[in-house]
Amino acid sequence: MALLKILEYPDPRLRTKATDISDFNVALGQQIDNMFETMYSAPGIGLAATQVDFHKRLFVIDVSEEKNEPLVFINPKIKELRGVEQMEEGCLSFPGVYALVERADSLTIEAQDRDGNRFEMEADGLLAVCIQHELDHLQGKLFVDYLSALKRQRIRKKLEKEQKAKSTSGM
Ligand code: ZN
Repeated sequence: MALLKILEYPDPRLRTKATDISDFNVALGQQIDNMFETMYSAPGIGLAATQVDFHKRLFVIDVSEEKNEPLVFINPKIKELRGVEQMEEGCLSFPGVYALVERADSLTIEAQDRDGNRFEMEADGLLAVCIQHELDHLQGKLFVDYLSALKRQRIRKKLEKEQKAKSTSGM
């Protein structure tokens, strides 16, 4: 397994729209394992393929306390969204940035697992929010898109400054 590099905002590759996966092969399995390793080590509770510069419809999630409930969603599709809630969100592509976002509070999703088997799942609370956040990534959409242009600009400046400092100080 290997750690993957996570793209950070405002990297334009984060705006790429992912395409469907049709080959459920060994390489895909390795990609999924690497994404879990990268997510757990970050640490994070969700990671979309887009964030590691792999533009296929795939994301991984684990919202459990013990980090022992890995979930893989391939070619995901929302079947139903219900209710509204606001939750503070962060994102591995936005280190140190948190913002309140309004989303549905429960949903039904359909997807395929790593072997290509279709499944349907009901989710609510943190898991539902996380699923919607990761699904957005596959469309090239980011959680700061829900904020005002002014707030988004402020976040962009902050992250650009930090990335510049990183690239000159450490290799
Ligand atoms: Zn994210």
